[in-house]
Amino acid sequence: MGNIIVPDTQTFPSQAEVVIIGGGVLGAATAFYASQAGLDAVVLEMRDSLGSLTTAASEECFRAQFSEPENVAMMKASIAVFENFAEVIGIPGYDINLHQQGYLFFTADPSGPEKLQAQVAHQRSIGLDDVEFWTGDEVRHHFPWASPLVTAATWRAKDGWLSAHELTYGFAKGSRARFLLRTKVTGLLVDNLGVAGVETNRGTIATRTVVIAAGPFSGKVAQLAGVELPLTLLRRQKFIVAPHPEIPQNGPMTIDLNSGAFWRPEVGGAALGWADALPEQPAEPLEKVPTEWTFPPLVLEEVMKLSPFWEKVAAELKREDVFLSAGQYTITPDHKPILGPYPDVPGLFLNVGYSGHGVMGSPEGSRYVVATITGELRPEDNPFSYERFAHGVVVVSAEKMVL
Ligand SMILES: Cc1cc2nc3c(=O)[nH]c(=O)nc-3n(C[C@H](O)[C@H](O)[C@H](O)COP(=O)(O)OP(=O)(O)OC[C@H]3O[C@@H](n4cnc5c(N)ncnc54)[C@H](O)[C@@H]3O)c2cc1C
Repeated sequence: MGNIIVPDTQTFPSQAEVVIIGGGVLGAATAFYASQAGLDAVVLEMRDSLGSLTTAASEECFRAQFSEPENVAMMKASIAVFENFAEVIGIPGYDINLHQQGYLFFTADPSGPEKLQAQVAHQRSIGLDDVEFWTGDEVRHHFPWASPLVTAATWRAKDGWLSAHELTYGFAKGSRARFLLRTKVTGLLVDNLGVAGVETNRGTIATRTVVIAAGPFSGKVAQLAGVELPLTLLRRQKFIVAPHPEIPQNGPMTIDLNSGAFWRPEVGGAALGWADALPEQPAEPLEKVPTEWTFPPLVLEEVMKLSPFWEKVAAELKREDVFLSAGQYTITPDHKPILGPYPDVPGLFLNVGYSGHGVMGSPEGSRYVVATITGELRPEDNPFSYERFAHGVVVVSAEKMVL
C-alpha cells in the first residue's frame, strides 16, 4: 500500500534522517509535517496497521473550548487543518468525516449562569472569540430535548468530531515518509553525541533524530534511552449505541459539566463516555485494555439526567446494541502534552502526553515537534517543552479532564 509496508530485508532501511516511533495519529502527523519540512522520515509501528491502538479507542472529538491560551491556540490551528484537510495533505476529495455540530457544555447548577458567563469572558480574552454563553432557555430553544433542569451552557459551533482512522491514514498518505508495520523498537542507541540509532526486531537503523510518539508505550520507549518521563496511564472506556429514533442526530457533543458524562451522535446511534464513572488506578501500558459491562449503565444513568430522551433509549437497549471498547490516556502532571527535545539526550524528541486530547491536537502539536527539530521553533517560544518539569515544578492545570 504505497508508503505503508511490512518491510523485508530489501526494504528495511539501514539509516534515516528521522525515525518516528509509533504509527498512531501522532506518529502519522509527525511524519507528515517532517516530510513537509523536507526531512526524510521513517515511522516504525509494531502492530499490523496504523492508528490501531489508542487512536482507534478515541471518541474522535475536537474542541477549541479550553481555558489556557496555548491550548486554545493549538486547537484552533488544528481545527483549521481539519477544515481544509484534503487541501493540506494534497489529496483532492480526501474525506475525514468531519462533523462540526458543536460542543455543548451544560449544567444544572443554580450558579451555572454566573460561572459560565465568567468562563466565556475569560475564553474570549484569550483568543476564543466564537465561544458563546447560553441560558437554560437558549439551550432548550436550540435543543428541545435538553432537560428543564439545565440552567446554562457554553457553546462553540465549530467544535465537533471526525474519523481518527481517516485522519491517521490521510497524514500517512499525504507524506513522503515510509511507514514500516510489524516493526517493533527494542532498543535506543545513544553515544557521546546523543541519539545514534534504533534497534528493532528487524535490525538496526542508524539515525541522529528520533521522535517518540508511542502513545501509552512512550514511557517504556524512553526508558530504552535511560529517560524517565512524567507520564501516568489511566484506562478510559467508551461505547457506541446502535441507531435509535430517539437519539437526535443533529445534536452536538453534549457534556454535563458537573459529572463530565457525555454523548454525541454517531451514524444513527451515539458514542458515550464518562471519565469518572469508575475509579481507575495508574496502569502499565497495554495493547488489550479490558472493558467492564458495569460501565454503560452507569453512563446512561448519568446522561439521562440532562438529556432525558436517554431514559427511553436505555429502556429499549439490548446488549447487542452496545459496542464497548477501552484505551489508555497518557497523562502529564499539567494535562498538556510534552512536545520537542528531551534536553539531556541530543536528538531525542517527544510527541507525547496529550492527556486525552491527542486526536484533536495532532496537527498543530506535531507541527510544533517538527519545528523544534528544524530549529524554526525556539525553546523559549515552546509552551509545551519538557523543561517546564525540569526543576520538579508541577503545574496544576485549570483544564478539565473531560473530552
Ligand atoms: C476512550 C478514549 C477516548 C478518547 N477520546 C478522545 C477525543 O475525543 N479526542 C481526542 O483528541 N483524543 C481522545 N482520546 C485520546 C487520543 O485517543 C490519544 O491522545 C491519541 O490517540 C494518542 O495518539 P498516539 O499516536 O500517541 O497513540 P496510539 O494511537 O496509541 O499510537 C501509538 C503507537 O505506537 C506503537 N508503539 C508503541 N510502542 C512501540 C514500539 N516499541 N515499537 C513500535 N511501535 C510502538 C503502538 O503500537 C501504537 O500504534 C481518547 C482516548 C481514549 C482512550
